[in-house]
Parts: sequence; structure tokens; C-alpha cells
Amino acid sequence: MKPAPFHYHAPKTIAETLDLLAEFADEDGRVLAGGQSLVPTMAFRLARPRHLIDINGVSELRYLEIQDGKLLIGAGVRHAALEKPVDNGPLGRLLGEVVRHVGHYPIRSRGTFCGSIAHADPASEWCAVAAALDAEMVAESKRGGLRVIPARDFFQGIMTTALRENELLTEVRLPILPKDTHVGFAEFSRRAGDYAVAMAVASYRLKSGMMTEMRIALGGAEAAPRRMNEAERTLIGRPPNSGAFQAAAHAVVKAIDPLDDANTSADYRRSIVRSMVCRALEQASA
Ligand SMILES: Cc1cc2nc3c(=O)[nH]c(=O)nc-3n(C[C@H](O)[C@H](O)[C@H](O)COP(=O)(O)OP(=O)(O)OC[C@H]3O[C@@H](n4cnc5c(N)ncnc54)[C@H](O)[C@@H]3O)c2cc1C
Repeated sequence: MKPAPFHYHAPKTIAETLDLLAEFADEDGRVLAGGQSLVPTMAFRLARPRHLIDINGVSELRYLEIQDGKLLIGAGVRHAALEKPVDNGPLGRLLGEVVRHVGHYPIRSRGTFCGSIAHADPASEWCAVAAALDAEMVAESKRGGLRVIPARDFFQGIMTTALRENELLTEVRLPILPKDTHVGFAEFSRRAGDYAVAMAVASYRLKSGMMTEMRIALGGAEAAPRRMNEAERTLIGRPPNSGAFQAAAHAVVKAIDPLDDANTSADYRRSIVRSMVCRALEQASA
């Protein structure tokens, strides 16, 4: 099937993009970034935007830089840009590990980091990382100016975020992790490159051999990615070992309300989540 007819706009600047969104958002105007989620849904006519605002010509959005202890990822940055370590510390290692799980190479070379965040598929790897690291999303609109939205308020449900229709997600900010941060990531999908059934991101630091600054986040398991605060608390002050990891995985499984669909039952997802949390923590401690 071919997409329904639409008007195509190709702004060259952020200001032009915001003007177009102000004019057309109410008439179902949508941002086109890498097109790796939007175009297939248009081809199936599940989405029929009347205006497409293509940001691929906006060079101002193509930046990936470190400033004041944060990695700034502009809306023009493709997934594949994260394959090269962004720093020589744990954040670079984590992003370099995670990016390999985002679809296949052609998708990674076209799709954007911010597009994934804006699209908010529950099984998006970047959304899970953003939740784990308390990312900040920078949204701009002509009428509302600039808003910085913390990850805990941003992800609201299946493909539902705090972004307003007339807002452009211009940037996502991730904290540069201290050098001694232990990081781990694990996901399960049926075939390489498929969307994951569930995934877990874990990080911590050690103080006198005991875990501190714990972060555990899940993706793919529930409607939106989130940190598992209760499970994190069970690990603080304990040494990293398999008994502690299993206790945390148990706390996660008790706390979640898993997605349940024709391919994956809630019970099966729970058992996958248990394994992914243990594996992410084991990888962090390796
Ligand atoms: C076969 C296949 C397998 C895939 N596997 C995975 C996978 O394993 N993991 C995964 O995470 N993803 C996967 N994807 C999706 C891919 O990562 C997409 O690139 C991503 O979800 C969306 O990014 P995009 O830049 O392509 O956005 P687009 O498709 O252009 O846009 C997606 C949505 O976000 C909105 N949007 C995009 N950018 C902005 C912005 N800056 N501001 C406001 N709104 C914006 C658009 O209007 C649209 O509604 C897969 C895709 C395919 C086709």
C-alpha cells in the first residue's frame, strides 16, 4: 500500500521548523526524522499525517557533544553515531553496547536517537537508557518556548509522551557517568534485530565494596520504560553478588505490570524480566 497523500515541507533551520509546526500541528502535521517508524506506519495507512515536516535538512540539529558533564544529542543524530564511543568512560561503553541491539544496520544508519525517544515504543532501547540515566528532553515550540522534561515525566505510555503536538524534540541530554560507574545492559528478542520482549539497564558505583548510586530500568516489559526504585533500594549497601542480584530481580518482578499480547504473555514476560535484570547486573559487575 502507498501512503495517503500529504504535503511535504523541508525547513532548513530550527526556527523554520517551529514555524511550520505552529502552522500545521493542528492539521496533523508531523516531524519526519529518520522515517524508520513513521514511514512504515504511513505505508500501512495506520498514520495519515496531512503535513510532513522533514528535519533532515536542518544542520543545526546535527550535533553530538559533551558540555558541563552532559552528553547533548541533537535531533539530527542517527543511532549509528553512538557506535563510536562518545567518551572513554562508562557512558560510551553503555551506549556502544546498547546501539548494537537497535534494529539492523540500515535502520541504525537512518533512524535517529531523538526520533526513538519521541516515538516512545515501549521496546525502544534508547527509551530504557533515557529512563535509567534520568535523561532530560529538550522540547521547543514557537508558542511555548523551551521546556526541559525529565525522563520520569516524559514517558507516559505506549507511544505516548509529554511532547506537545507543536513541539520539536531538539535535544536529549544524558549525564556523563563517573569513571568508576559499573554499567550493564541485557535484552531478549526472538531474532537478532527484532524488537525486544524485555530489556534491563543497570548501573552502580562501589563505596567500600558496597553498591551505591543504584540504577535499574526496564524497557519492553511495561507500557513505558521506568526505573525500578524499590529494587534499587534492595541493593544499596550490599556487595555485588548473585544473591543480591536475584533478590533485586525478584523485587522487580513483583513491582511490574507486564504487557500481555498474542505473542508474549505477561507471565512469560515476567520470567524474561527476571533473567534480564540478573544479566544486566552481572554484566555490570564483570
Ligand atoms: C524493521 C525495523 C526494526 C526496528 N527495530 C528497532 C529496535 O529493535 N529498537 C528500536 O528502538 N527501534 C527499532 N526500530 C525503529 C527505529 O529505531 C526508528 O528509527 C525509531 O523508532 C524512530 O526514529 P526515526 O528517526 O526513524 O523517527 P521517525 O520514524 O521519523 O518518527 C517517529 C515518530 O517520532 C516523531 N519524531 C521524530 N523525531 C522527532 C523530533 N525530533 N521531535 C518531535 N517528534 C519527532 C515523528 O513525528 C513520528 O511520530 C525498528 C524499525 C524497523 C523498520
